[in-house]
Amino acid sequence: MKIIKTLIIGSGPAGYTAAIYAARADLKPIMYVGMEPGGQLTTTTEVDNFPGYPDGVDGPAMMVDLQKQAERFGTEVRTGYVSKVDFSTEEGGVHRVWVDEKTELKAKTVIISTGATAKYLGIESEQRLRGGGVSACAVCDGFFYKDQDVAIIGGGDTAAEEATYLANICNKVTMLVRKGEMRASKAMQHRVTNTKNIDLRYFSEVDEVLGDQVVEGLRIINNKTGGKEEIKITGLFIAIGHKPNTEIFLKQLEMDDGGYIITKGKTTKTNKPGVFASGDVQDKEYRQAVTAAGTGCMAALDAERYINSLK
Ligand code: NDP
Repeated sequence: MKIIKTLIIGSGPAGYTAAIYAARADLKPIMYVGMEPGGQLTTTTEVDNFPGYPDGVDGPAMMVDLQKQAERFGTEVRTGYVSKVDFSTEEGGVHRVWVDEKTELKAKTVIISTGATAKYLGIESEQRLRGGGVSACAVCDGFFYKDQDVAIIGGGDTAAEEATYLANICNKVTMLVRKGEMRASKAMQHRVTNTKNIDLRYFSEVDEVLGDQVVEGLRIINNKTGGKEEIKITGLFIAIGHKPNTEIFLKQLEMDDGGYIITKGKTTKTNKPGVFASGDVQDKEYRQAVTAAGTGCMAALDAERYINSLK
């Protein structure tokens, strides 16, 4: 069996950037695109904050461009889902990877860029209006609701940070926290409570998102009293956490309590030699396309240096 120099798992901005750099370094990368080719950006519409696109870019179109760029330098992009891995613990060892539970591959280096998935509430009206005013990324989509009224769900650091971010752009932000307290750090809580145009409501949950094609309002339920209230909003932001896509790496790689892969210092190195992690799968702090792309570049450089160090 031929040994692949660099195998890339996942096809978001991190994976494609790793592919561009790895291909240009003659590592002949092979990429498996996974269940959601193109990653989370394919679920957004306009991307306005990726440098180099002064007029913004459509998320799926940007991923097509990234794929073309990776292929131009010789990346082989394959459809398929990596279902099992067995990473070597030896310096210079060969890693074994299974695709779609049957095809076995061997690789000298593996770059993991399987991303994370935003959690949603799961109610029908929320799912129906995703892309029609329901978003899981305030930094990506907040600007579209400039001077409008929006709501945000969640009481963690992400929700608190995104609520204050939205408050700078929007007219009013209604923040729903399901318990009588927030999970966010005290500092973040103070930022929320000190921001005049955030209407913070405890014991509050979404009963229904209102609107046919686009979000027009929200029916809120108070889970203590059972009382319901309707408010008018044009945007709803869900900030109840993310889940890194790391199930197949359990027992293989070191992860934190949230399941994010731990990388060493300022590198993309995992605890297994020749295995690198980039993008949201190892980043719960920034989670931006541009930061994911940056760590994809780092992973390819780390893989190249690793292979050179074996010679
Ligand atoms: P968290 O898991 O910390 O918080 C999730 C929040 O969403 C909680 O308030 C939770 O409520 C609420 N929630 C979960 N499910 C539902 C639901 N179905 N309906 C309503 N509310 C729900 O996630 P975060 O993304 O906020 O943070 C993840 C990690 O990243 C944390 O460790 C955080 O500290 C860190 N982080 C740090 C930042 C920083 O330091 N600048 C910025 C962003 C994140 P409940 O409490 O009731 O379970």
